Amino acid sequence: MRDERLFSLFEPIDSLTGIGPKLKPVFERLVDGEHVWDLLLHLPDRWLDRRVKASFEELVPGEVATVQGEVHAYKAPYTDRAPHRIQLFDGTGFLTLTFFRADPRWLQGQFPIGKERIVSGLITDYQGERQMSHPDYVLDPVKSERPPAVEPIYRLTAGLTNKRVHNAALAALEHVPDDLPEWLGNDLLTDRKWPAFKAALQGLHAPQSFDEDAFALCKERLAYDEALARETVFAFARLARAQKDAPALVSSIEALNRVATSLPYKMTSAQIRAVKDVSGDLAEAHPMRRMLQGDVGSGKTLVATLAAVKAVSAGYQAAFMAPTEVLARQQYENIAALLGPLGYEVAALTGRDRGTAREGTLMGLADGSIQIVAGTQALFQEGVRFNKLGLIVVDEQHRFGVMDRMRLASKAAAPHMLVMSATPIPRTLAQAVHGDLDISILDEKPPGRQPIETRVIADTRLDEVVDAVGRAMARDERVFWVCPRVDADDDDASAVQRAAMLQDWLKAPVGLVHGRLRGEEKDEALEAFRSGKTRILVATTVIEVGVDVPDATIMVIERAEGFGLAQLHQLRGRVGRGTRKSYCLLLYRPPIGDLARERLETLRRTEDGFEIAEADFRLRGPGDLLGVRQSGAVDYRVLDLAEHADLIPVARTDARYAIERDPGLTGERGQALSLLRELLSPLVREGK
Ligand code: ADP
Ligand code: MG
Repeated sequence: MRDERLFSLFEPIDSLTGIGPKLKPVFERLVDGEHVWDLLLHLPDRWLDRRVKASFEELVPGEVATVQGEVHAYKAPYTDRAPHRIQLFDGTGFLTLTFFRADPRWLQGQFPIGKERIVSGLITDYQGERQMSHPDYVLDPVKSERPPAVEPIYRLTAGLTNKRVHNAALAALEHVPDDLPEWLGNDLLTDRKWPAFKAALQGLHAPQSFDEDAFALCKERLAYDEALARETVFAFARLARAQKDAPALVSSIEALNRVATSLPYKMTSAQIRAVKDVSGDLAEAHPMRRMLQGDVGSGKTLVATLAAVKAVSAGYQAAFMAPTEVLARQQYENIAALLGPLGYEVAALTGRDRGTAREGTLMGLADGSIQIVAGTQALFQEGVRFNKLGLIVVDEQHRFGVMDRMRLASKAAAPHMLVMSATPIPRTLAQAVHGDLDISILDEKPPGRQPIETRVIADTRLDEVVDAVGRAMARDERVFWVCPRVDADDDDASAVQRAAMLQDWLKAPVGLVHGRLRGEEKDEALEAFRSGKTRILVATTVIEVGVDVPDATIMVIERAEGFGLAQLHQLRGRVGRGTRKSYCLLLYRPPIGDLARERLETLRRTEDGFEIAEADFRLRGPGDLLGVRQSGAVDYRVLDLAEHADLIPVARTDARYAIERDPGLTGERGQALSLLRELLSPLVREGK
């Protein structure tokens, strides 16, 4: 049941004066919602300063400005298509107002020679002369007429003018109750100099004066409200989890040590830290929800495998879930290689296992003789039963959104969950993107990796690239060749066309894999490439995650300028996994702009995924970051990740603290928070 105090905000948009049945759908489209409240969340993009300037000398072409001057002359058009002109004079110079197709009598009535007028509009430059064409306002200062000091400017949609949207927003402001309790703490309000909730909305939709700092503070306050609403939901989920029982997976240190000492290498200190985090969580009697984030090759599998060992030695089973068949198989092989020799029972289960092999695996899972299983989503469908599932590990989590993951967690019946992602996310965004998860980061690569040499090359030099590729293939190395599209007759850089062309040039079999192939066809192509039957694989970005081919030494990416940096970085991570020197060739089609060049240059300069993600974020904003869009982290309505990401951790602490103190939300602040949650949590949008 919705709180009565919010009823007026959740009235339909057409309850506002001026919005009838015809405008209703137009407004709904614009604000992406059907309530008065949705309209209020459609904040202005910017504000126009309509204060009257001191003199014409201050006018800058390209700006909207307001000035006062005396009407000096009316000039009729030279030709039919030329404008009527009114000249204003203010003692410092002239301003020419132009009017196309105007009635001269009406115009002269508006601008009587010798009278003062205030005009407001866009200033242009015409052959060195300051002009204003069709002013937005023409006012008489003698009658004390003034334009509004400031005017909010909204993003619009066809069929709506700024004035209409502004008037609707003003009407909507009347629906905001005056008696809403404050849900933010006093200290925060004072420290940050934030206005109250209603005042913040008024300060944006109906500001009294032009003050950029004030606008920013109002927006910040509402962004914080939104972050707090969302974090309140997460804090509840966390609390519910903390109250849920889970087996405390306590094991002797020996089981872990036995695996650790069997490794042919030393663990990195980042891996050791992550194992400690995970072990700590598993030993608690409530469910773990932890994200393990680390660049490709940072060694996440080992950390997860040790978690599985801990589960097994405490008497439970562990399941690994990967987004694709190939990745599931690969994971199975990695885990089996580590743990098989030590006597662990490891199995694979994917949708493709059939017949007696499948029956055997199902039985082993049900009776507990299989301790660790790696598979696809199939693991949690089709009546697969576990004897005692204690841990689930989800690989490449960015393929699944926050909501998917929550759904999975409810279905999986495994109390503890570790999710892994190879998508580096700027630290400032990590919490926003990973929602309710605790985070461990592998920010250190295992030692001894060969750096990958990255080159940025114009595709006019394609023949040189093909030569180099041919030489590598002659040395029995493998080459990935990535194209941005599957198939297009008019584009030779699409996968199907490029594969045919390369086959012709190289006189060698060329593998081809793209999203339109069936799963089995994809696997076959990848397998042929892995085994060396084909030495070059033309692909779209389906190979982006996970695929491990140690002999691959060259990664060619065509039209690299069109990809996100994180994506290019992940593609690059497909090479440089063996002992041989590897290259990444980023082909672009000239000409490209400075920004595109700077982005590719970043990639050439560094292999540090976090640094690359930061650069991508800085250059293109959060929406383009790999994994951010899917995560749902960009669906904030007010909060702008590029501006307000730092508010999220503050809101998280705030929400957790508030809910620990008052889990029933019955206290004064609790009740206020509960109102806020109704107003701004994403679940309200989903209708839950
Ligand atoms: P990712 O984080 O991309 O999943 P993997 O877990 O597949 O990385 O590890 C990549 C490779 O690095 C594997 O071959 C693994 O055996 C190896 N590896 C993992 N940890 C270390 C380490 N500490 N030292 C050396 N090699 C390691
Ligand atoms: Mg991996």
